[in-house]
Amino acid sequence: MPATDNPTRALPSLHEFFAPGGILARSPLPYEYRPGQLQMAKAVERALEERRHLIVEAGTGTGKTLAYLLPALRTGQRVIVSTGTKALQDQLFFRDIPFLETLLGDLRVCYMKGRANYLCRHKLVTLRAQPILSGLEEIDQYRQIAEWEQTTETGDRSELSELPESSALWQKLDARTDACLGSTCPDYGRCFITEMRRRALESDIIIVNHHLFFADLALKREATGAPDAGILPEAAAVVFDEAHELEDVASSYFGLSVSNIRFEELARDTDALLRGKEGTENLPAQTQQLRDRARMFFAGLPMTGDGRQPFTEREEFLETSGDLYTAVRATLRRMEAEMEGLKGIDEAPGLKKRVARLRSELEFLLESSASNMVYWMERRMSGGASSDKSTARNVFRPQARTTFLQATPIDVSELLSELVFDQIPTVVLTSATLTVQGGFEHMRKRLGLNEARELVVPSHFRYEEQALLYLPPQMPDPRDPEFPEAAARCIQRVLEITRGRAFCLFTSYAQMRALYERLLPVLDFPILLHGTAPRKALLEQFRETPNAVLFGTSSFWQGVDVQGEALSCVIIDRLPFAVPNDPVVAARMKAIEEAGGKPFFDYQVPSAVLTLKQGFGRLIRSLEDRGVLVLLDNRIRTKRYGQTFLASLPPYRMTQTITDVEAFFEAPSRDAERG
Ligand code: SF4
Repeated sequence: MPATDNPTRALPSLHEFFAPGGILARSPLPYEYRPGQLQMAKAVERALEERRHLIVEAGTGTGKTLAYLLPALRTGQRVIVSTGTKALQDQLFFRDIPFLETLLGDLRVCYMKGRANYLCRHKLVTLRAQPILSGLEEIDQYRQIAEWEQTTETGDRSELSELPESSALWQKLDARTDACLGSTCPDYGRCFITEMRRRALESDIIIVNHHLFFADLALKREATGAPDAGILPEAAAVVFDEAHELEDVASSYFGLSVSNIRFEELARDTDALLRGKEGTENLPAQTQQLRDRARMFFAGLPMTGDGRQPFTEREEFLETSGDLYTAVRATLRRMEAEMEGLKGIDEAPGLKKRVARLRSELEFLLESSASNMVYWMERRMSGGASSDKSTARNVFRPQARTTFLQATPIDVSELLSELVFDQIPTVVLTSATLTVQGGFEHMRKRLGLNEARELVVPSHFRYEEQALLYLPPQMPDPRDPEFPEAAARCIQRVLEITRGRAFCLFTSYAQMRALYERLLPVLDFPILLHGTAPRKALLEQFRETPNAVLFGTSSFWQGVDVQGEALSCVIIDRLPFAVPNDPVVAARMKAIEEAGGKPFFDYQVPSAVLTLKQGFGRLIRSLEDRGVLVLLDNRIRTKRYGQTFLASLPPYRMTQTITDVEAFFEAPSRDAERG
């Protein structure tokens, strides 16, 4: 049973904590009573008591974190809290939990990341014995890591602030499942993963992210009955914050992906770990063969250019180029057999497991007839951007090319229902964006959430006063060739009024580039471009640069929090419909059609509504924020479905007149007036 043997400690009731004049109100933080927060906390507590599921849309500013943390702690049972990103995990663990501790005393909370974030002590020991390092940089990093290993209590790489994100050495040393020896490992007793598991068992709250949660679930599902599988212990409840991301994350972990890089890494690790050991004489030739054959196989895939495309012609490929596939498979089989025969080498079983897994995933991707899957390919340039000094512009320079073969479930609702909602007594799903026109139907259907209580917590913000939504009149349809020119004119006009201080969010990289090129010569503000630096660095720069304008695509539509005047305007180029020729979207639309539904209205519109709410949600992050939202896509007014979008947005004041935008910025804010 997931009780944590916590000595029962009297925690305050929800009322004592949240109500006016309660513990929270008396805390040193400036705090305003929020009825929605207490309402949500009560709903969470009830769901936990009744062992039922709950779905809550809680607008930004509700204080939803405390609204689920306190009821979770009051159960006296273990609860997993899963967030959308590592950044949110950090916020919970390093900000919200310490704050709660100042009010409630010590809490038993632990923080878990994916295994790749932790050091594998066994790999470090092995590398110490045979230091195969490439270049001075790796030697230096190795020294750093070996020194740190002596003192770290967690083995979490985030403690190594100097270690570059892309360190190739770390990838040789991390604790990923692939190469883990499990309980047969000589370093099992002092392993950081074992220690993390133990800490989790003693905690009341375990903070994870969706990626870790689903990676763990997928692992347990695969290894039914294996006691060592997975790192998350059983829990009485799971709270999914940022629950609007669940379908995507679950889809990627219940699917399969094999890339050319995985073959290269397997060959590299086999060479590094087994080289020179007794009985491994045949392996170097096999790893070289694996590299050569994998390269030929990936080069032979029927891909037309870069990007994502369906792999519907798998049978034809096997007929015409099947020998490329069977050659790779044969080499993998030979390596498996070779490794099977190796005795007394600690690394051999882990590597053999890895080879077998790669082979079976490749077989699935080429031969499986599972009908709930969509099979597709993707070629991606893992690029970087740098500054071109001759033109003083930021340019994107492609660096390496990775090809993926993927299988993604078309519908995860049954899987989620069976593996999550049927197994865990209480699941709480929350986010600021879960409803379409006030209803949860879309989300519940996509996630397979059949039985659940529902709650929409009204926002604490005064959207009518804090935000103005400007829908420029006379914009051409975004598919019209004249659109970019008109969009550029409109963006320029609005930014002159707002004096920069804006996010321009685009639905495609190409559109972002095109508008950036047009506007760069005419805008008098510092412009930051997505892709020219890591996201975190760009955001930091945006916050620190007066009047900055940031041009961004999908990753800036959510999980970004810039409070205050630095962000006074959010401009969105078009309604964010998922691209219908994307293989996964196309397969989902086809499945809806075959089931008698209307793919556009049942899937594309509601998904786009949620994305638009996310994008616009960047603007108002506190009661003091105010600003203008601009949507350049006139279909929100001219098409009937536009009504669904308008009815789903918070009650922003709306206008089609640019002078209203001017007046909005001339008018002192209500707070300033009050002051
Ligand atoms: S148990 Fe696995 S992760 Fe832990 S030290 Fe051993 S090989 Fe590394």
